[in-house]
Amino acid sequence: MIGYRNGVVNTLRLWQAEVPTTSMMTGTQREEITDITRGLYPDDSTEEGRRLRLRQEYFLVSAGIQSIVRNYRRTHVDLFDFAKHVAIHINDTHPAVAVAELMRILLDDAHMSWQQAWSITVQTLSYTNHTLLQEALEKWSIPLFASLLPRIYQIIQEIDRRFREKYVPLRGEAFVNRIAPLGDGQVRMAYLAVLGSHAINGVAKLHTTLLESSVLRDWYQLFPERFSNQTNGITPRRWIQTADQPLSDLLDQTIGDAWRTNPLALRSLHQYQDDDAFLTALNQTKHANKQHLAAMIQHSLGLVVDPNAIFDVQIKRLHAYKRQLLNVLGLIDRYQRLKAGEDLGVKRVHIFGAKAAPGYYYAKEIIKLINALADQINHDPSINQQLQIAFLPNYGVSMAEQIIPAADVSEQISLAGMEASGTSNMKLMAAGAVTLATLDGANIEIRDAVGPDAIVTFGLTADEVAAHQRQQDYDARALAASDPVLTRVLSALVDGSIPGIESVGRDIYDSLIRYNDDYFVLADFHAYQAAQKRIDLLYQEPLNWARMALASIAESGRFSADFTVQGYGNQIWSVAPTHPLVKDDDV
Ligand SMILES: *Cc1c(COP(=O)(O)O)cnc(C)c1O
Repeated sequence: MIGYRNGVVNTLRLWQAEVPTTSMMTGTQREEITDITRGLYPDDSTEEGRRLRLRQEYFLVSAGIQSIVRNYRRTHVDLFDFAKHVAIHINDTHPAVAVAELMRILLDDAHMSWQQAWSITVQTLSYTNHTLLQEALEKWSIPLFASLLPRIYQIIQEIDRRFREKYVPLRGEAFVNRIAPLGDGQVRMAYLAVLGSHAINGVAKLHTTLLESSVLRDWYQLFPERFSNQTNGITPRRWIQTADQPLSDLLDQTIGDAWRTNPLALRSLHQYQDDDAFLTALNQTKHANKQHLAAMIQHSLGLVVDPNAIFDVQIKRLHAYKRQLLNVLGLIDRYQRLKAGEDLGVKRVHIFGAKAAPGYYYAKEIIKLINALADQINHDPSINQQLQIAFLPNYGVSMAEQIIPAADVSEQISLAGMEASGTSNMKLMAAGAVTLATLDGANIEIRDAVGPDAIVTFGLTADEVAAHQRQQDYDARALAASDPVLTRVLSALVDGSIPGIESVGRDIYDSLIRYNDDYFVLADFHAYQAAQKRIDLLYQEPLNWARMALASIAESGRFSADFTVQGYGNQIWSVAPTHPLVKDDDV
């Protein structure tokens, strides 16, 4: 990994499971092995899939730690000072088995005592939690885990036994049962990671607060000094310099090129906020990027879109909590209004990019709905192309590099309290898109950075959502029944007016009405539509719009991943940079 103008090259090591050429294995036996690294995130909706996934996780963790230890031994006679020289980070819950694997090496290979090995393990390891979703905190059934990894399971049993022995007298049985690594017949990987790490962090201020007060509350009570926040970041090298050369050139001409090595220098853009020539040039840059994306959309989908329309972008994994469905219900409403002859003042193109996890049926139904609605709206001459939908298939980073520079609006509309941080929100603000957001994840820090006049926020807060969940007073069916707009919009899912979505439309309708809308889509619907109306009005004042874009770009520098990495280095890994960026207080 080559650093940008800093004289540093780092190693990123990738692993692959291979069969030795001399092996006498059958084809099936070979496949059992090569399957381990055939694809990331194997489908875990079946027992076989879960087994493969656990084998993959252990394979990658073990290879990584063995490689680190081998390398360390080249310059050190023993492992007693290991933690002084090595930091191993458990990045999300997937590699949490690292706790037991490092213990195995220190106990079985280096023949250390348990206390010695445990002390080195905790001092070496740190853990980042990336999600509050309960289903993403991996848990393995004990029979699966113990049969596949018997020695590792034995070590986890001993970790669990010692944890209970120490803390039951101090905190009581109930407390310890809630958080011990073994419980409910499962190995609870997130709890193992927390217990085996000297530092634990969330990835945005709200996320860390919610970790401490809910998902990891008991752990926070036990080890408050281990917790910190490290807000995620993005690399301006990829997302501005490489992906957005028209903007990069304009920045160079306007404020010089210091921003390329110090992204906080983007703040000097603020002095141009009333410079009409600059604001016009900024809009021209965006227009050129939109022409480029329009050509890509025509090539990919055969759809001709107008670069003068608002390009409203929602690009992220397809998940119910991210609420692509809220965007879709807004589109159905808009389409129905246009059909009824309302003049909405602006043309819009809504651009989606999203993949669903292989076993996530509901997410695939939402993709089906977006495509069916796109088919209908894009082919309806009666609305005169006032509204178009582009669902770009096979979303990935290279495609994101083409979409983001062309975005006018950045949709960050997850249910408050669900999105740990988000990072496309940061990429899109750096490209001068106006953020349309709920107060979730890093959206809150983005609002604090750009100021309330340069962002459009709406919807329930995380506290309000939590209160509804506690009081169980949300009734989606009653809400929809008493609301003529929601009734009209939801009917479209089930009355045949969108061709080709018979069962999909019914399933989605049921998720909202019969199963009471877990993600409060209907509760936030009107606030969302009002926010979109504000966007429509703002967009019709091009210089004011450019002023919001300027504020976004100017304040995007604090979200450089360089600052995030510096925070991990200072507060978690104890590694000092050779060239410190800026004092933490300055960002
Ligand atoms: C940045 C990025 C993401 C993360 O997007 P969020 O909206 O923050 O969830 C996902 N996929 C790709 C390809 C990305 O570039």
